[in-house]
Amino acid sequence: MTSNPPRTFDAIIVGAGFAGLYQLLRLRRAGFSARVIEAGDNVGGTWYWNRYPGARCDIESVQYQYAFDPELAREWRWSERYATQPEILRYIEYVADRYDLRRDIQFSTRVTAAHYDDTAARWTVTTDHGDTYTCRYLVMATGCLSVPKTPEVAGIENFQGEWYHTGAWPHEGVDFTGKRVAVIGTGSSAIQSIPIIARQAAHLTVFQRTPNFSVPAQNYPLDEDEWRAAAERIAELRAEARTTSAGIVGLPLNDISALAVSEEERRREYERRWAIGGFAIGGAFNDLAINPDANETAAEFVRQKIREIVHDPETAELLCPRDYPFGTKRLCVDIAYFETFNRPNVTLVSIRDNPIAELTTKGLRLADGTEYEFDTIVFATGFDAMTGALLRIDIRGRGGLQLRQKWEAGPRTYLGIQIAGFPNLFTITGPGSPSVLSNMIVSIEQHVDWITDCLEYLRERDLATIEPSPEAEEAWVDHVNQVANLTLYPRANSWYIGANVPGKPRVFMPYIGGVGTYAQKCAEVAANGYEGFILQPEPALSR
Ligand code: FAD
Ligand code: NAP
Repeated sequence: MTSNPPRTFDAIIVGAGFAGLYQLLRLRRAGFSARVIEAGDNVGGTWYWNRYPGARCDIESVQYQYAFDPELAREWRWSERYATQPEILRYIEYVADRYDLRRDIQFSTRVTAAHYDDTAARWTVTTDHGDTYTCRYLVMATGCLSVPKTPEVAGIENFQGEWYHTGAWPHEGVDFTGKRVAVIGTGSSAIQSIPIIARQAAHLTVFQRTPNFSVPAQNYPLDEDEWRAAAERIAELRAEARTTSAGIVGLPLNDISALAVSEEERRREYERRWAIGGFAIGGAFNDLAINPDANETAAEFVRQKIREIVHDPETAELLCPRDYPFGTKRLCVDIAYFETFNRPNVTLVSIRDNPIAELTTKGLRLADGTEYEFDTIVFATGFDAMTGALLRIDIRGRGGLQLRQKWEAGPRTYLGIQIAGFPNLFTITGPGSPSVLSNMIVSIEQHVDWITDCLEYLRERDLATIEPSPEAEEAWVDHVNQVANLTLYPRANSWYIGANVPGKPRVFMPYIGGVGTYAQKCAEVAANGYEGFILQPEPALSR
């Protein structure tokens, strides 16, 4: 078998989710040749893979959409405050067709390796089909939450029923009617799917290791006026979002300490924001993320809500998070999650001190020997987040330096966009950028715009490569850590810190300094001739 000769592009983009699609469009419009390589057989990324029942966005649809083209915003009519996965996927497919993006995407193909050639200043990209590509620029749009994590429980191969992971859900859907179902995990994916599965299943057993703080979405159908008002102002709203801390508008921060007001006033503010729904509660006071006592007031408010909603006091107590501060694991946004535990066909089992020992042919066995039988098991056990997709690829930079080796003790980047020793490699929403702590579309658009402007800058000046100086990277990594350590976030065993993957280095991966501050820093760096980056001419020209 002979392999095909390498195909050459200015840029290879890996991934066809929100990030990869917009990057393709921007590069194409800027006159670069670009090819997207995508493991799935269609566009959509997160919204292609996560088809579990109940999946929907937790940031309002009118904000969780592209803003680069005001016409697009006018064309796409969102039907609900928080759109469902099928609707978001239809939107992404619409975007791919509207801008004729598919012709430059190679589907059903996984990138397995990317090696940098110092002499040619080019990347060689290899796929699981054995094809190779060469390119000057390599843009990783591989997603922060794209590698599903199934727990290392023994005996998974023995289980004779069906099992699924929320992050790799079958396209044809799953019918739970009349089934005895287990859901393992109680993060956002579980919290969205549990109420729907409970309505179908004969019996649902939820296995909870750590209870989560969850707030109601207060979802509703979006009426014409509300949708149109947002669609007409999309550019303005996005410009404003880029100055906020989470890339979301309409979540005003009440700029006062939770401890500076009376208990009654505090309760009123939490109630008001609970009624608004979604992340509104996060801005109730200005010290929830930094002061443990202030944080505890929000934590206790949610616990009281759980006790009010859940009829059985024992179940309610099990559902109350206690051992990490409010909001330091991703806050969940639900539709009738806690209410679901009032159903007679739903049982909550805490596996905190009694973990799953193994899967059996008929179900599972806990460490204390208790056995359960199921027809279907749903793993809502999360992802190898932020670094997982990058480290699954054999990426080698200057002198053969392996990314896996460089990141052995945790990811190191400059601005979450580039890595010292890996010229012309860009990571969209990479570790060290606000990414998962923000409205991701805002952060994706900001990175794609920055990268495209950067490549145009290089082209105009006949420069061949850009990479961070080791000093700039070091300083940024320090800054990212320092800012994280000013907050309560590192106190939680969250996926932000890699705690959900055994053996993963514990490093707080996203940048918590805020979208506004961060975007300003990126803009200043570019305005100052890409401060902190090393820009070099074509190797042959420099001789
Ligand atoms: P992705 O959408 O993850 O796309 C990455 C693509 O890269 C995937 O299609 C993958 O197949 C492909 N890929 C990866 N590695 C390779 C490889 N080696 N070769 C080829 N292809 C590869 N964020 C929000 O801001 N708001 C929300 O409401 C929200 N809801 C979410 C709900 C769920 C269930 C999940 C899992 C995440 C959610 N997120 C949300 C985060 C979400 O991931 C981002 O908002 C956004 O969709 C990410 O887009 P992306 O293009 O960067 O990555
Ligand atoms: P997750 O938040 O990491 O939750 C995984 C759950 O599985 C946790 O409850 C975890 O318990 C549990 N778990 C993991 N391994 C286990 C094991 N071996 N035994 C028992 N329990 C185990 O994953 P996710 O729910 O898929 O969400 C990931 C992220 O995707 C979210 O934080 C969010 O950013 C995004 N998301 C958003 C939405 C949305 O609302 N739009 C929906 C889904 C996902 P521990 O907590 O003890 O580790």
